[in-house]
Amino acid sequence: MKHLNIALVTGHNYISPNMIRITLQSEAIKSFPANATGGHIKLIIPQPEHNSREFQKFLRSFGVRKRMRTYTVRHLNLQSGEIDIDFVAHGDDGPASAWALSAKLGDFIGLSSPGSPKLKPSQSGRYLVAVDMTAFPAAAAGLEGLSSDSTGDVYAEILSEKDIQPVNAPDGIKLHWIINSAPHAGSAALTSAIRNHSLTGDESVFVAGEYEAVGDLRTYFRKEQGYAKDQLYISSYWKRGLIESEHKRVKTLVA
Ligand SMILES: Cc1cc2nc3c(=O)[nH]c(=O)nc-3n(C[C@H](O)[C@H](O)[C@H](O)COP(=O)(O)OP(=O)(O)OC[C@H]3O[C@@H](n4cnc5c(N)ncnc54)[C@H](O)[C@@H]3O)c2cc1C
Repeated sequence: MKHLNIALVTGHNYISPNMIRITLQSEAIKSFPANATGGHIKLIIPQPEHNSREFQKFLRSFGVRKRMRTYTVRHLNLQSGEIDIDFVAHGDDGPASAWALSAKLGDFIGLSSPGSPKLKPSQSGRYLVAVDMTAFPAAAAGLEGLSSDSTGDVYAEILSEKDIQPVNAPDGIKLHWIINSAPHAGSAALTSAIRNHSLTGDESVFVAGEYEAVGDLRTYFRKEQGYAKDQLYISSYWKRGLIESEHKRVKTLVA
């Protein structure tokens, strides 16, 4: 397992009704790779009864895996050693969401070092993105790093109109917001928007979100449209009714 560090909460803001941006600060973040924005990171959620000493010990124990969840580095500030993580506030049925809802300045959390960004650069400069709110941070971070002449379409499923958020993407990237207040009932509007979109064949495709929708779009791009693997990033970020470790097991079984 990657080396784990402790970070402190230095910011807690609702950027929209269903998305909480938490800023985390730690000395370890000062040595993250400069291109970590948009990469995933493992967070270890303390148990409510942990004090910081007990949590240090917990980070070295086997039980740590049960409290580990995957998130995305939305912004990175190497100088101050801070990252922003945007949490979907889906209730207190999961430790990460519950923690984000109740976190206060000065609270602690565990974190790993980050992985690399997920949005693949495309030779054509064209992009097609389909995401829900869990994958929006990874997509937005990637889009904000594209060259200014990039073009494409982003279909973003959000829980309410008030969850629309600004993205500093190139002018040629068009955002299409799809409201779905019940993601537990499926993402049919998102998948049909993609199936109705006119493909050019040379886009870099980024698809991430709930397992069933992602599975449908994987079939669409790989089997029905014959897109090559290296043109695609397709990954499920959560699965209805399963906690993260169970979802990961299902993903491995079908891979
Ligand atoms: C590479 C990667 C990057 C990710 N980046 C982000 C990110 O930046 N922001 C973010 O919010 N999520 C992100 N996710 C998704 C996040 O890891 C999962 O949503 C995770 O399950 C949340 O943990 P939890 O403790 O809140 O819930 P868990 O304990 O894992 O699950 C508890 C219950 O909540 C349900 N659930 C989980 N997520 C959601 C949801 N979004 N909406 C409704 N119900 C849900 C589960 O189906 C389960 O029934 C990412 C996932 C991956 C793989």
